[in-house]
Amino acid sequence: MESDFENRIVTPDYSSEDVDVELSLRPKTLNDYVGQEKVKSNLSIYIQAAKKRDENLDHVLLYGPPGLGKTTLAGIVANEMGVNLRVTSGPAIEKPGDLAALLTNLNEGDVLFIDEIHRLRRSVEEVLYPAMEDHALDIIIGKGPSARSIRLDLPSFTLIGATTRAGQLSAPLRDRFGVVLRLELYSTDELTDIVLRSANLLNIEIDVEGAREIASRSRGTPRIANRLLKRSRDFAEVIGKGVITLDNASLALSRMEIDDLGLDNIDRLLLLSMINNYNGGPVGLETIAATIGEEAITIEDVYEPYLMQLGFLAKTPRGRVVTAAGYKHMGIEMPGQQSMI
Ligand code: ADP
Repeated sequence: MESDFENRIVTPDYSSEDVDVELSLRPKTLNDYVGQEKVKSNLSIYIQAAKKRDENLDHVLLYGPPGLGKTTLAGIVANEMGVNLRVTSGPAIEKPGDLAALLTNLNEGDVLFIDEIHRLRRSVEEVLYPAMEDHALDIIIGKGPSARSIRLDLPSFTLIGATTRAGQLSAPLRDRFGVVLRLELYSTDELTDIVLRSANLLNIEIDVEGAREIASRSRGTPRIANRLLKRSRDFAEVIGKGVITLDNASLALSRMEIDDLGLDNIDRLLLLSMINNYNGGPVGLETIAATIGEEAITIEDVYEPYLMQLGFLAKTPRGRVVTAAGYKHMGIEMPGQQSMI
């Protein structure tokens, strides 16, 4: 069964089964990058302006749920600026010295991408401030009263930070980004284009209805769409003629226990336990987390954005509530006035 959290097919987080495809599927230019029109048009202007002035692009903060294309965008920026990309993540940089080593190894103009930047330790973050502002590294030499600080020059670089929520960033760090862009969940049309593009690159035969079926069940997330495409191919090869169609895609997704709106067992468990144990809410995030045995932060970053986009879950000052649409989707009658308590 794929019902435990680790093996969740529709997790937007990067998993081992994405390793081989993600590299080959990543668009390399802004033109190839589907959707996110606002982000693309802003970035394109900043990139052109920076190139014209022969300067680096300002530091960029990208925020939004996982799997929406933040790492991909960082690669595109580096590519369009004609510089190298260095990729790391907040938790991977353990000590200030690790970051110092990364920074001193950059070439002039390089893009440094830090995923999960909200998870940087404070001591590491403090090294970033002068680096972002003045391209400088302050090093403390010695200990105690004789300690003194010397300043080293760094190559100028562009930092691209990615986070699931901008609100989690400390104010001094957030303020040092000149460009802050929010990525949105993708529409079904956009995801259909992504599925067709990926199928083409992976030599998978698929018709438009099949692509649309996968797209509409991918929770607005390209990473999930690509994963479901791969899994659907297995079904098409075994039970169909190798071509992914509406029928065999639909069957494949049902077998994976992904319903027609892309909800899986865990989404349904979340809604059901709120309905059965708390009358549909209001109920606090921590309580929901304890009830279904998942971390609050994961619920907030991973499950809620999609359930809220569907209008099945709403946030109120007193906690989360299951909406009438949520009850309807679960096939449960909403108690009359009780949900208004
Ligand atoms: P994030 O860094 O936000 O978690 P990634 O950049 O790793 O997401 O994207 C995950 C996968 O989704 C990539 O392999 C890429 O193929 C695909 N992808 C993301 N955004 C797009 C897009 N706009 N167009 C086409 N494919 C995309």
